[in-house]
Amino acid sequence: MKLTTEQLRSALIKAAEQIEQHKDELTDLDREIGDGDHGINMSRGFQAVQKTLEEHGEYEDLGALSKEVGMTLIKTVGGASGPLYGTAFVKFAGAFKGKTEVEGAELADAFHEATEGIKSRGKSEFGQKTMVDIWTPFQEALSREGDLKAAIDQALADTKARIATKGRASYFGEATEGVQDPGSLSSALLLGEIAEVLHG
Ligand code: ADP
Ligand code: MG
Repeated sequence: MKLTTEQLRSALIKAAEQIEQHKDELTDLDREIGDGDHGINMSRGFQAVQKTLEEHGEYEDLGALSKEVGMTLIKTVGGASGPLYGTAFVKFAGAFKGKTEVEGAELADAFHEATEGIKSRGKSEFGQKTMVDIWTPFQEALSREGDLKAAIDQALADTKARIATKGRASYFGEATEGVQDPGSLSSALLLGEIAEVLHG
């Protein structure tokens, strides 16, 4: 599995379209177990990313692309999720610096760093019904070159069944059981488009 600069750019544009299509669903889920802004936050952020990527055209390398995406997300998404998604891309920027394509262990390590970045920024762990519950299994599947889409589907089902113990959703306690976590769904949409280009 190999990721090129142009593949990441096209995956992000497709992810922005997916976020837009799921905007209301993301907001409805966040209304149930949050404050009802996740779809609005993500739509604002990924519309800005899409615009930036389309206007910029080709990027020098994966690092430059990731850095611009990270900065755009930090500036535009807001909420708890903005700095978390922003951190993931800032970590990619470091791992991908000067590289026009990455594969194998190098690619898996970059996703490991991004996931660790989210956890450290959010003071969160796997199993708390947050986006970490998607990023962690995705990164693990990537390191064993497994089926990324199957890993995402399984992770979505698993996190849906959990009770939230982190973030705003944790205030809703047992009522979160069986309700999808909005940040897990948005992460699945984003990582799903990356899986699509990686599986080729
Ligand atoms: P807010 O909770 O500030 O309204 P959003 O609604 O945009 O922000 O994002 C909520 C999502 O962010 C949650 O569904 C969850 O997946 C994720 N999230 C929230 N807090 C954390 C955290 N501490 N660590 C990891 N992810 C988190
Ligand atoms: Mg919210």
